[in-house]
Amino acid sequence: MFSIKNYNFKGKKALIRVDFNVPLNHNRQITDDTRIRECLPTINKVLNDGGAVILMTHLGRPNGYEADYSLTPLAPLLSKLIGRNVIFTRDLFGPKTHDFAKNLKMGEVIMLENLRFYPEEERGDEKFAAEIASLADVYINDAFATSHRAHTSVCTVAKKFPEGKKFFGLLMENEIENLDKLLRDAPAPFTAIIGGAKVSTKIGVLRNLVDKVDNLIIGGGMAFTFLKALGGKVGSSIYEEDKIESARQIVQEVMLKGVNLYLPTDMLVSSGFSNEAEFMTVSADNVPDGWMGLDIGPKTRRRFAEIINNSQTILWNGPMGVFEMENFRQGTKSIAIAVAGATISGSFSLVGGGDSVAAINQYNLADQMSYVSTGGGAMLEYLEGRELPGIQVIRGNNKENKPKKASERAAPVAKKRVIRKLR
Ligand code: AMP
Repeated sequence: MFSIKNYNFKGKKALIRVDFNVPLNHNRQITDDTRIRECLPTINKVLNDGGAVILMTHLGRPNGYEADYSLTPLAPLLSKLIGRNVIFTRDLFGPKTHDFAKNLKMGEVIMLENLRFYPEEERGDEKFAAEIASLADVYINDAFATSHRAHTSVCTVAKKFPEGKKFFGLLMENEIENLDKLLRDAPAPFTAIIGGAKVSTKIGVLRNLVDKVDNLIIGGGMAFTFLKALGGKVGSSIYEEDKIESARQIVQEVMLKGVNLYLPTDMLVSSGFSNEAEFMTVSADNVPDGWMGLDIGPKTRRRFAEIINNSQTILWNGPMGVFEMENFRQGTKSIAIAVAGATISGSFSLVGGGDSVAAINQYNLADQMSYVSTGGGAMLEYLEGRELPGIQVIRGNNKENKPKKASERAAPVAKKRVIRKLR
């Protein structure tokens, strides 16, 4: 009932919240149009039904109106992609925009100016929402990557539309369906690979996943907080002193739930945070003073790849090392290859988060994954088991399709208890 698939938009003006937060170079040319392409199925569905489209998005983080953040370059590109003229309003509301919307003919598309030129966008402003909502007959949220923010265009505007007139776009529906595959009865063995710089941004996800996964692989800078919590020596590697206790609790929970925890056993350590600095391989729990771990070592790469190869369900978020530097990208690359290999052999894989997605793109492996999420923060919050504000406002209290809580799922089959870690 929230899907646009079963709705006919003929004669309707659809207000679509998209996330066209695309990267631009200094000449204001779009360097990657993926975010625009991903919303084309939703836009085309409305147009092909015989409806009209009003698009709204944010771009960057402008402080009030800043010409550099205007959506001017986006309209011609979208126009080319959909093969129709796109009218750019140069405003969000006001008499001119109202006239455009009022006179909008079916089959036409208008794009409103950057939502974030208006401070009301981030405040959940009722008046601002009513103005925008008045432009259209129905509302569609196709901006998964922004749906964890209770911003006006995501929440307050949606509230102005009754049930039956607000929907998830096709991208949004895809995200929910694929993320739910991980949260509900994912085929075992289910392996989560979590990396990146900080534990602090991923504690919620780790806690929620412990209930669901068979194997938890931790790499990247965040592994050092765990290694430290287990009594290891981390030298000058990054770790979060104030998260050591949380890491310890997660380790305890992992043991209690019978999940296999895999931390790096060897590391590439460097004498400085630079590709030019000297580097060597050492035992992960014994990083010498003055050296910092910047990637997982060869033994760890092989071990992690083996676990991944034997998994039926795989989630990957966060690089295994400082993959931006050539000398420290091997760990991330080997994970990308292992996940792609497992997927080719029939496993379900979901990759998300800016850096992991950048990595699989860099190695031309994105097409080999079962699903690549468009959400960074939104994906993590979803996997924490939280209902995102932009999803809640459309579903209301309707329980249809909500992921089950741990207490509602069937009891897990007892698993073997193993902590493979510091030897
Ligand atoms: P996140 O946004 O938390 O997924 O973190 C991604 C960032 O973590 C990337 O920019 C990596 O360079 C960085 N990172 C991964 N491993 C390490 C490490 N061992 N030391 C420092 N930074 C790291």
